[in-house]
Formats: sequence, C-alpha cells, structure tokens
Amino acid sequence: MTRETRKPPLTGGCQCGAVRYALYAPPHNVHICHCRMCQKAVGGPFAALAPVRHTDFAWTRGTPATFASSSLALRDFCRDCGTPLSFRYLDSETCSVTIGSLDCPQEVRPETQYGVESRIDWLDGVNALPRKVMESEMPATRKAKRVGYQHPDHDTGPDWRPPHAPPR
Ligand SMILES: [Zn+2]
Ligand SMILES: [Zn+2]
Repeated sequence: MTRETRKPPLTGGCQCGAVRYALYAPPHNVHICHCRMCQKAVGGPFAALAPVRHTDFAWTRGTPATFASSSLALRDFCRDCGTPLSFRYLDSETCSVTIGSLDCPQEVRPETQYGVESRIDWLDGVNALPRKVMESEMPATRKAKRVGYQHPDHDTGPDWRPPHAPPR
C-alpha cells in the first residue's frame, strides 16, 4: 500500500480505536437502509451509510474483520470492539462507511431510504418521544466511577492507547 498524503475531508473509526479510516472525497448518495441484513449488521433499526469510491477510501490504522453477509456483499467491522464500519458490494466501485462511525456524523446527511419493505413502523413515532440528556440521567454514584474508553472523534498518533490498556 502506498503511503497516503492527501488530507482527508472525513475520518472515522471504531469505538476502541484499533481501526481508523479516511474518506478523500465527499460521500454521494448518502442513505439509510432498512433491510433486514442492515438491521442485523448494525444491531439497530436501520443502517446509515455514506458511499465513496474505493479510490477515495483508505484504512489508516489497523485491519478490520470482514463478514460476507451474502454472495454479493461484504461488511467490515472491528474484531476487537465490534463496531460496524463498512458495507460493500463485491462488484461495485464504491464502499459505504457507517455514518455513526464517522468522526462528524452530523455533517453527513442521508438523502434516500432503501429497503423500506423492512422498515420498522415505530420509527414514525421516534421524533415525538420524550427527550433526555445523558448526563442528567446518570446517577451520581455511577457518574463518579465513569472512565471513558472510547477513541476520540479525531485521528490520533501511533502512541495513542485506550486509557485502560497497558503501555507497550
Ligand atoms: Zn475497535
Ligand atoms: Zn441494507
């Protein structure tokens, strides 16, 4: 692999930080997919996916594990923490990263819904549910013990380690 020198407009990675990636062009046809395979793959009601051409994508730290969810498609995820990272058809020029694994998911807005035959109907009511802030809901006793092990939302150097990991 040649060393990448382009500055990526978008970066992302898994929850533990073992796998990081970069997009070197803005994604196109950003979408959510309600299909049953995407529901299983992300463990949620739908997958939110940002496609880019393979030539505009690179893994920049670590190597993901890969599951073939059908004879047509592969899904990459972190073997250490399980974060779903990408979806790609074997015969496509693009791969799609999961919007939630991007460092700036707010900046990548879906334009289309796919797999609507499997759409979960309670999604219609989600916007009307009561809204609560995480911090205010956490009991003080739990808050006092909390230490985050999640990788920060930006690239880190080769010396970065999760706070609980022994130094190398
Ligand atoms: Zn990970
Ligand atoms: Zn799908």
